Amino acid sequence: VFISFEGIEGCGKSTQSDWLSRFLTEHRIPTIRTKEPGATAIGAEIRKILLHADHVGMSPICEALLYLADRAQHHDEVIQPALSTGTWVVCDRYHDSTLAYQGAARKVSSQDLNRLFELATGALQPDLTLLLDLDVQTGLSRAQQRNREHQSQVTEGRFEAEAEPFHQAVRQAFLGMAAEQPHRFVVVDAARPVDEIAADIRGIVTHRFAN
Ligand code: C5P
Repeated sequence: VFISFEGIEGCGKSTQSDWLSRFLTEHRIPTIRTKEPGATAIGAEIRKILLHADHVGMSPICEALLYLADRAQHHDEVIQPALSTGTWVVCDRYHDSTLAYQGAARKVSSQDLNRLFELATGALQPDLTLLLDLDVQTGLSRAQQRNREHQSQVTEGRFEAEAEPFHQAVRQAFLGMAAEQPHRFVVVDAARPVDEIAADIRGIVTHRFAN
C-alpha cells in the first residue's frame, strides 16, 4: 500500500505522516515513512540544490527536472523495493506536489511533467493521497515559526519566500486535483488540533484498507 501526504507549507504533513507510520507499525504493519525531495543520498544532494536560498534564478524546467530526478532515484531505491516486499510506504510529498508547484505555480506544462513522471516511476500512483488543506496565511505563519525554531533550516527558504499568490495557486491546484480524482484523494481539514487530524487520518486509512 502506498499512501502520500500533500499540502502547502506548514499544513502538518511531516507530523501527520510520522504519526500515521508509527500507528501502522504499532499494528504490526511493516511500514516505511519517507519524503520528497531528499530521501536518498543522491536526493539529499538534489534537495540542497533545489532549496538553496541563492538559487533564485533557477529556471522552472531545471527545477522540474531536478524534482523528477529526485523522484526517479527515490522510486528505484526506496519506494519500489518496499512495495515489492509488501511494506507499506507513507510518503511526505510526491508527484502531486510537482503538478502543483512546478505545474500550476511555475507554469511547466502538466503534460510534460506527467511524461517525466512516467519515465521516472512508470507513473506509479499512490493508493491513497491525504491532502491536508489549510489556508495559506496560517500555513505560512506556521512555516515561519518552524524556521525560527530551527535556525539550521533558514537556508531552506527559497519557496517559503514566495509571495502569497504563489502559495494560493499551489493550494487551489491541490484542491482541483482532489476534486478530479476523488477515488484517490481525501481532503483533510488541517486547521484543527493535531490530535483531531491524526484521529481522522487513522480512521480514513483503517476504513480504506481494512480487509
Ligand atoms: O515538504 P518540504 O518542506 O520538505 O519541501 C521543501 C520545499 O520545497 C518547500 O518549501 C516546498 O514548497 C518546496 N517544493 C516545491 N516543489 C515540490 C516539492 C516541494 O517547490 N515539488
